[in-house]
Amino acid sequence: MNSAALNLVLVSTPIGYLGSGRGGGVELTMRSLIKGLLSLGHNIILLAPDGSQLPADCAGAEIKHVSGIDQPSWQHQEVTAPVVIPPDGVLLGLWEQALEIGKSSDAVINFSYDWLPIWLTPRVEANLFHLISMGAVSQVMKTLIGDLSFSAPSRLAFHTYRQASDYDLAEPPTVVGNGFDLDQYDFHPKGDGPLGWAGRVAPEKGLEDAVSVAAALNNQLLVWGFIEDPKYASEVEATFPPGTIDWRGFLATSELQRELRVCRALLNTPKWNEAYGNVVVEALACGVPVVAYDRGGPGELITSGVTGWLVPPDDVEGMKAATSQISKIDRKECRRWVEEYASHDGFARRIESWIKGGMNAKKFSGG
Ligand code: UDP
Repeated sequence: MNSAALNLVLVSTPIGYLGSGRGGGVELTMRSLIKGLLSLGHNIILLAPDGSQLPADCAGAEIKHVSGIDQPSWQHQEVTAPVVIPPDGVLLGLWEQALEIGKSSDAVINFSYDWLPIWLTPRVEANLFHLISMGAVSQVMKTLIGDLSFSAPSRLAFHTYRQASDYDLAEPPTVVGNGFDLDQYDFHPKGDGPLGWAGRVAPEKGLEDAVSVAAALNNQLLVWGFIEDPKYASEVEATFPPGTIDWRGFLATSELQRELRVCRALLNTPKWNEAYGNVVVEALACGVPVVAYDRGGPGELITSGVTGWLVPPDDVEGMKAATSQISKIDRKECRRWVEEYASHDGFARRIESWIKGGMNAKKFSGG
């Protein structure tokens, strides 16, 4: 029994149910965090779309399901697009419940990248906190997050400094990184396997550059992930010699790491300011070095020459050359980095300290 236990409400993404893959990295982030917060003794209610499931090691959290239409994702809209909330949107149902339960909770932690919960923050009784999961892909979100940083900076946290630098913030950001349950990833010492790529299959992930590197090296590329944009996936496939891509599908973490860990390198090719890059750290956790563009979160996570190689953004030739040098990386260093900087319990402690700090901060100023 933890005398300082907090009553926390966690609100999931309104894009897909937990386990669908449609929510991207947020799904795994929430699972690791719930496990970590439970082990610190906190009480958790999770609000999530119908169909969402938590693994057995998160059974201590109460899950409340909410029905409704998915929210359209911001990253596939024009940067100047207005806010859209579908009739019967699950976002509305999630926040109706969050505000009600939040009144008798210590804090409500929002994991969705949406206008509504951030706009509500200074206007409601519940203590709302936001772990921002993307860079500034929308002008209206960028302005709103910037405004909240002036009136209530302690209510915002980011995954990386690179991500946070997209926003005009009143003060240096709270950066909490991310967390991974190391028990879920087996270290694989040998580095003579295939090349891999993992992520949502969508244009902002730049799969075509990774396939180009694999094709130039006469290798196959194993690809794991939810095919969010089937047209884009077909176009990438048609651009390269048949069979260059080995589509492995969207796998549960246990299966993903079993296939991923034998790779000699993971290629990571973001075309946007990736907020963090879960798949980068999942590869490192297995001992797989990562060759990535020096853009967004991956550029902050990888120590070039130690846990992989960073190459200039969009430099396919540079990525090819770096991939050829991958045997110089000590795979033990990759795993060691995750243990030191990205464990799920360390992440939970950083989140706990952010929330406790925010609860003690004066309520709202200015704005
Ligand atoms: N993922 C998965 N199974 C797969 C491929 C990917 O569960 O077969 C998950 C992976 O664990 C990661 C997420 O998909 O948590 C992708 O997150 P990332 O942060 O890399 O990018 P995002 O989709 O959030 O932009």
